[in-house]
Amino acid sequence: MSDISTELIHHPYVPPAGFAAPQPGVHKASTVFFANVAAMRTREWKNKSGYTYGLHGTPTTFLLEERLCTLEGGLQCLLVPSGLAAIANVALALLKTGDEVLIPDNAYGPNKALAQGELAAWGISHRIYDPMNPADLASKITDRTRLVWLEAAGSVTMEFPDLPEMVRQCRARGVVTALDNTWGAGIAFKPFDLDGDGSGRLGVDISVHALTKYPSGGGDVLMGSVITRCEALGLKLKLCHMRLGLGVGANDAETVLRSLPSMALRYRAQDAAARQLARWCAEQPQFNQVLHPALPGAPGHAHWRQLCGNAGSATGDGTGAAAGLFSVVVSERYASVQVDAFCDALRLFRLGYSWGGPVSLVVPYDLADMRQGWPPQVARGTLVRFSIGLEAPGDLRADLEQAVASALPP
Ligand SMILES: *Cc1c(COP(=O)(O)O)cnc(C)c1O
Repeated sequence: MSDISTELIHHPYVPPAGFAAPQPGVHKASTVFFANVAAMRTREWKNKSGYTYGLHGTPTTFLLEERLCTLEGGLQCLLVPSGLAAIANVALALLKTGDEVLIPDNAYGPNKALAQGELAAWGISHRIYDPMNPADLASKITDRTRLVWLEAAGSVTMEFPDLPEMVRQCRARGVVTALDNTWGAGIAFKPFDLDGDGSGRLGVDISVHALTKYPSGGGDVLMGSVITRCEALGLKLKLCHMRLGLGVGANDAETVLRSLPSMALRYRAQDAAARQLARWCAEQPQFNQVLHPALPGAPGHAHWRQLCGNAGSATGDGTGAAAGLFSVVVSERYASVQVDAFCDALRLFRLGYSWGGPVSLVVPYDLADMRQGWPPQVARGTLVRFSIGLEAPGDLRADLEQAVASALPP
C-alpha cells in the first residue's frame, strides 16, 4: 500500500474469533497470569514474545506501538505518558555524568529546561547550536558529545533546517541523533528515510513524537512515543523506560488508536487551512513577517521543499505537507499590551498550549526570553503563534480580521 492514510486503517490486527470490527479491543491489566512457575520464570518482557506485567505492555499498547512504527517507518516503539517524557526517556537512557548533549536554539522549550535543570545537576552539560547552520552544529561536536537533538520545523519560529545535512554531520562523527518529530508527525516526511528513496541509508537514530498533538487530535490525551530502527539502541531505551516505570493507560492508548485512522486527513485539512490563513496574514501591514515553512521566503523554505515538498501526494496537488501551525511577527510599532489585546479579542482562537486538536489556539511569545540571541532570520517584534483547528477557514479568517481591526489600528 502506498499512502499512510490507507496503511493506518488497514493495519494487521487479529481480532477475537468471529469479531472482526473497525476498532481493536481494549485490554487492561497490571497483573498478567502465568500458567505455571516455569512460564513465569522463562517469559521474556524485553522482546514482546509474551506478556508479563501491565507496565511491560498489553495487547492494546503493543498494537499502538506497531501502528506508530508504520506511521514513522521505525521498528521499535516505546509509549510514555507525554511528549516531554519521551524527550526525558531518550536523555536519561543515553547520557551520563561527563557527557554533553547538543540542542538547537529553537528546540521545544522544556527540552532545554530539562538540560538546564536535571541534566546539569547530574553533571551532564549541554550546548545550544544554531539550527540554520550545520557548520555550527558540526563545530560543537566533541568527543564528549553523546546525543544531538534535532527539530523540524523549530518551535515557535518555525524555521526548517537542513535536516539531511545535519544528520550526515552527526553520522560522520558517530553521534546519536534524536529528532523531535511532532511537527512532521510521520506525514510530512519520513524521519528514518531522509533521502526519500526507501533505502533507509540516511535517517535519524531516534524519533520522539508528542502523540498529544496529531495522533490524539482531540486535545484530550497526553502521550509520547520513542521510535528507533536500531535494536541495540531500542534495548537501551527500553531498559531505561522500564527502570523509570514509564507506561501509559489502556484507555488513553485506545483513544489514540481510535484517532489514528483520521490523522492523515486531519493533518492535510489543518495544513490547507493554515496555509490559507498564513497567506492572508502575510498581506496585513500589522504583521512584519509570517513564519510558516511552506511559504516562499520563510526561513528554511528551500529545506522544507526538499524534504516535504513531495509529501501529501494522495491529493495529487504536489504542494507538499506541513503541520497546521504558524507564527506572525507583529510590528514593533505595537506595544506588547496591544498584542495581548489582539489575542484577547479573538473569539474562535482560544488561548491555550498544544496543537493538532479541533479548536484553533493562539499564544503570544516574547522571543527575547527564549533564545540565546534574536535569530537573524526573524523580524523584530512580538510573536504570536496560531495552531489551526478544524473550524471552517473562512470563519477563522473573519475572526482574525475582527481582532486585527479592533486591537491593531493601522
Ligand atoms: C507538545 C510538544 C512536546 C511535548 O508534548 P507533551 O505531551 O505536551 O509533553 C514536545 N515537542 C514538541 C515539538 C511539542 O510540540
